[in-house]
Amino acid sequence: MDTKLLFLAGFAAAILPAQNQPVLGEEAVKVSDSIWAIMGFPNVAIIIGNRATLVVDTGLGPPNGATIARVVAKLAPSSQKLFLTTTHFHPEHAAGEVGFPRDTILIRNSVQQQEMELHGKEMVDLFASRSAKQKELLANATLRTPDITFASEAKIDLGGVMARLLWFGGAHTKGDELTFVEPDRTLITGDVVQNKVVPNIFRDGGTPSSWLTVLDKVIALNALHVLPDHSAPGDGSMVAVEKKFIGDLRNSALELKRKGVSADDAGKQLGGEFKTRYPDWPNMNVAGFVRSIYAE
Ligand SMILES: [Zn+2]
Ligand SMILES: [Zn+2]
Repeated sequence: MDTKLLFLAGFAAAILPAQNQPVLGEEAVKVSDSIWAIMGFPNVAIIIGNRATLVVDTGLGPPNGATIARVVAKLAPSSQKLFLTTTHFHPEHAAGEVGFPRDTILIRNSVQQQEMELHGKEMVDLFASRSAKQKELLANATLRTPDITFASEAKIDLGGVMARLLWFGGAHTKGDELTFVEPDRTLITGDVVQNKVVPNIFRDGGTPSSWLTVLDKVIALNALHVLPDHSAPGDGSMVAVEKKFIGDLRNSALELKRKGVSADDAGKQLGGEFKTRYPDWPNMNVAGFVRSIYAE
């Protein structure tokens, strides 16, 4: 019996409430042989090899970054090199970097870095304006230049564990990054593949069709485990479900568009229809994504 799968099924219910509040805890759960995760806003992956550790995402602001660093110190030998990468430029994913040790090697794809330079500070200010707590968490957030940037793929040999950092094109944002870890065959997907969560394109990030193109490349990785950033982990079938959902919604919305139905009306109608078609999805607010389909 695969106890790992049983465990994954169990922790969805227990840990998901933490995903809406901005302070990360110090509990880490095992996702696959070499990967741990702090489940929260967002889920943060800690990938541990014999020589080095890679963290994916920083939490919202330096205090969360420092929490992650403490968890890493408990899980991995302190002599190890520490790498840090980010799934996209939004503050809960990238604005906690200052909380990590000073010799942490920061690496991200260059498209994401361009978005960070254009809009990173603006997003920090926006998130800080949302609550007193978020303002406090982001007070000392500075966005430093990465030590390494890459175009479409960077491989980090962690010692017995290989992390492939991948940029496949725009989806939720332009610079969405995925991390594929071997031999685990675990994929850390950011917002590109979620578990029963309606996708969302941030401003001019990607388009519904670029998102589908990205998913074709993700499917080819043939992941066994998937760790998304704002929902529960699952198996590799999550990738195909994401593609089916976006494809279905796109076809249905384009049909209504051809009939002259407005984007707003299509969003309302399809919200109801997709609740029936995907009954186990907790929330079916498709209005935003339908607008993206209409706009393309
Ligand atoms: Zn985001
Ligand atoms: Zn996010």
